[in-house]
Amino acid sequence: MSTEEMNVKGKPLFGKDNNPSNILPQKLTLESKIKFRCHPGVRCFTACCGGIKIILTPYDILMLTRRLDIPAHEFLQQYTLPTYLEKTDMPGVMLKLREDDNKCPFVTPAGCTVYTDRPTACRYYPVGMADFHEGGTRDGKGNEVKGEDDKFYFVVKEDHCKGFEEDKEWTIGEWRADQGVDVRDEMNKEWLRLVMRRKSFGLQATLSEQAKRMFFMASTDLAHFRRFIFESSFLDTYEMDEEILAKIKEDDIELMHFSFKYLAATLFGVANIKIKEEKVKAKIEQIKQRQDESVLQSIREYEELKAETARQKAESPIK
Ligand code: SF4
Ligand code: SF4
Repeated sequence: MSTEEMNVKGKPLFGKDNNPSNILPQKLTLESKIKFRCHPGVRCFTACCGGIKIILTPYDILMLTRRLDIPAHEFLQQYTLPTYLEKTDMPGVMLKLREDDNKCPFVTPAGCTVYTDRPTACRYYPVGMADFHEGGTRDGKGNEVKGEDDKFYFVVKEDHCKGFEEDKEWTIGEWRADQGVDVRDEMNKEWLRLVMRRKSFGLQATLSEQAKRMFFMASTDLAHFRRFIFESSFLDTYEMDEEILAKIKEDDIELMHFSFKYLAATLFGVANIKIKEEKVKAKIEQIKQRQDESVLQSIREYEELKAETARQKAESPIK
């Protein structure tokens, strides 16, 4: 059983292992209370927006590109650095800190310039969520089982953060609602599950380079993924409902959710997208042909060997 924490600013998106000492050893629920407030008046205002690693989820990237009104490829180039997710071989991106002061590119002395569209990790701080079964747990029949009991919350209390000295009291549930975390959780859920599933396989199983490229493209650049759906052989290969196709043509959120489904199918063999019957038949025929060819090849080799042996025997002086 593994415990996965996610989305705490300044920590790896899903892990506590970099700095466990700042996590208070208390398992909290949505009803637990915390005393905390962050506002421009605190002495440490924006102190937590530097020297950090903020992994971006596909939804974070979508929201930030909309906010900045630039295409994803431009955003990736200007504001991100490549990284690997959760000590797996799955490629992702993190915010690129400014060279001169090692701070987030969106922070100013007056605060966050993209505040209402800030990434998931920024919203979580200082309350993290742990989920014992983030990668998905299955019962004896292979069906996914997941209960609310699997989740709990925890607080990260770092010395530099003076928000804990403020007089505002919240339940964890109220704090999360205020920060818009629930919406993000819903948007990120399936993507996180892909990463956790990959992590649970360990390094003995490797992803092909093509699979990694597809994961990166679908996770970071939805416009590119849309071109892949509508301008490649995708539609010749998969059976797609017309209604879903119409939605993903226009709606980025629908497209993002579909990309998670597609990745689950291609990376982990989840049977959620159907391959066209004729494609399956053609593939079987191709495999059969290859097998037939290798049988013919071994017959040929056997016949050649037989002929060679007979020739050597005929030429041998010893009869
Ligand atoms: S996105 Fe905003 S809240 Fe997050 S680190 Fe940057 S400035 Fe701070
Ligand atoms: S109070 Fe904490 S969260 Fe707010 S700016 Fe200071 S360090 Fe960051």
